Amino acid sequence: MSRRHIVIAGGGAAGLAAAVTAAELGAQVTLLERADRVGKKILQTGNGRCNLSNAAVAPEAYNAPDFTAPVLAQIPCEELRAFFSAHGLFTYPDAEGRIYPVSDAASGVLDVLRLACEESGVQTLCGFDTVQLRTDGTAAAADGRTVTGDAVIVATGGGTRLLQNAGHRIMPFSPVLCPLKTDTAPVRGLSGLRVKCAVTLLRKGAPLRTQRGELLFRDYGVSGIVIFDLSRHAQPGDVLSINLLPDLSRDELCKLLYQRKTYHPLRAGETFLTGMFHSRINAAVLRAAGGDTPERLARAIQDFRLTVQGCGDSKQAQVTRGGAALSEFDPVTLCSRLHPWLFAAGEALDIDGACGGYNLHWAFASGITAGRYAAGGAL
Ligand SMILES: Cc1cc2nc3c(=O)[nH]c(=O)nc-3n(C[C@H](O)[C@H](O)[C@H](O)COP(=O)(O)OP(=O)(O)OC[C@H]3O[C@@H](n4cnc5c(N)ncnc54)[C@H](O)[C@@H]3O)c2cc1C
Repeated sequence: MSRRHIVIAGGGAAGLAAAVTAAELGAQVTLLERADRVGKKILQTGNGRCNLSNAAVAPEAYNAPDFTAPVLAQIPCEELRAFFSAHGLFTYPDAEGRIYPVSDAASGVLDVLRLACEESGVQTLCGFDTVQLRTDGTAAAADGRTVTGDAVIVATGGGTRLLQNAGHRIMPFSPVLCPLKTDTAPVRGLSGLRVKCAVTLLRKGAPLRTQRGELLFRDYGVSGIVIFDLSRHAQPGDVLSINLLPDLSRDELCKLLYQRKTYHPLRAGETFLTGMFHSRINAAVLRAAGGDTPERLARAIQDFRLTVQGCGDSKQAQVTRGGAALSEFDPVTLCSRLHPWLFAAGEALDIDGACGGYNLHWAFASGITAGRYAAGGAL
């Protein structure tokens, strides 16, 4: 049993997982949270359902596969599910492998973590805005309060600079997993419409990656899961090629459009697309096609192009890219290479993952890892 005192700055997914793990190993744990309650963000995740992991979790789903690999090897998806079921939360995979609580309620995830903290004796101090880390393992709050531990775990989330205070380099922040702002002329009149499609991200004309799923048109560009995923890889100037009928080959689609033109003479107000998509999408496709020959229409339907200008709405971004430089942390223990008493977990490190449970998986798995090694005194 650990006899160490572990101080954790940040009571989000990573901090709570670290607190439960360290306390259950016998450590005395003090959890410092800036807000009035711990785990508020967990409640917003997965549209209130909390997509907490993914059956396909693997290092390649993250920006730094080499760094994430040891933590993911220690805590793969099944291990994280076992961690939660040991604390009373049962989970299931949906058809795409996304893991959700059986209750489909994010509140259940937070409840079991809070309960486990209480049962294992974690002392939680809310309203504690940690602004300074001292080399003796002291975390100091903006209001002058201090707590000193044998080890400190920083789990303050994305876009935070607390680790800079301990001399760590912070990589530049940018929002990812967000809607994308594009040129607006092609999407005029489409805001609010959803389509099931395949979207290919092109850079200088070359395809980078293709995702299938639901896309939501917005007045500033595009949103939806398929876009959130691609946003991790998109840069201003890249092109989104939207295929509204990805299950048809170009030849099949042209043939269908020819048949329609030949055998179904148009009545007033009809176009060759009437009935194919929402009328506002038909109008946008016709605009993009610049004519109603089957070839032009087929190209506009299967290669509807938008140019990326940046993040569409940073308030909607789920993850912040950037954070503490990974080269300054041991990827097995998550201990700082600058200070043996300092650990980091979650988005405070420069890690971001794909949409679909990968970011919470990293937060929980890295929290459990940092909690284990900090409590284990593996210094
Ligand atoms: C709307 C939304 C939906 C999402 N849905 C999903 C999803 O379904 N699946 C998924 O995998 N990911 C999802 N994410 C991403 C996921 O929530 C984050 O990657 C994850 O919460 C990161 O965990 P963390 O503990 O590192 O940071 P956070 O959860 O942000 O926790 C950090 C905590 O530290 C506290 N804090 C910050 N600074 C200080 C300080 N100086 N002193 C003390 N406390 C401090 C904060 O108040 C916060 O409580 C979603 C994100 C958002 C915004």
